[in-house]
Amino acid sequence: MWKLGKTPKKLIDATEISDKYVYRDNVFHVSELSYTCMYKIFYDRIEGKEFNKSGLWNIYRGIVFDRAITPLFDENELRVQMRVPNTDIIIRGKIDAVDYDENVIYEFKTVVSIKFVRKPYQHHTQQALFYLCNYDPNAVLKLVYVSMDGHKTFEFVGGRQNADAHMPDFVKKAKSLRKALRNKEAPEPQRASECNWCRYKEEGRCPIVKTRKRKK
Ligand code: SF4
Repeated sequence: MWKLGKTPKKLIDATEISDKYVYRDNVFHVSELSYTCMYKIFYDRIEGKEFNKSGLWNIYRGIVFDRAITPLFDENELRVQMRVPNTDIIIRGKIDAVDYDENVIYEFKTVVSIKFVRKPYQHHTQQALFYLCNYDPNAVLKLVYVSMDGHKTFEFVGGRQNADAHMPDFVKKAKSLRKALRNKEAPEPQRASECNWCRYKEEGRCPIVKTRKRKK
């Protein structure tokens, strides 16, 4: 016989995740700009991100793996940033891990199962290439997917020019968001993979993507 009991408070505290980050209008995190839809980024900043249960679980899973994996390397959580020329805009992020001897930088992503990962996701590629370009374009970049059923590593082989080609997109988005935040006017929404888990769609607030009504 079982009855529902109380979860220990220290476990609740350890798993509590909220978006307490204080945003500055001229500073962007590379993970924000790796997404396509700036309408979503704009409102996430203004209203604070909200996570559903599966979103919270994904974040928690990432933190647990992160604590286990990144301390294995020479350096972890290494901050890199770029200033957009002739502006006050800064784009920054943190490289998960660095191996100095081999000159390798690592970006780790946790997933439900590596079986479903056939190639790096577009927004992960963008983020990792930003790190490469702003750390050392001649370093080796490895994007590692980790799950309870294993790991899968992708190594970037595109060369410097290929990596650099992604930077103007970051600059364009950062400038556009800076302007939108200053003028308090949301940018145009844009369909992308993030529509699949977007709260503005779920809440019926997206101007272009609507949730399908369930048949009764
Ligand atoms: S559902 Fe709408 S707001 Fe959300 S990401 Fe897609 S286009 Fe952007």
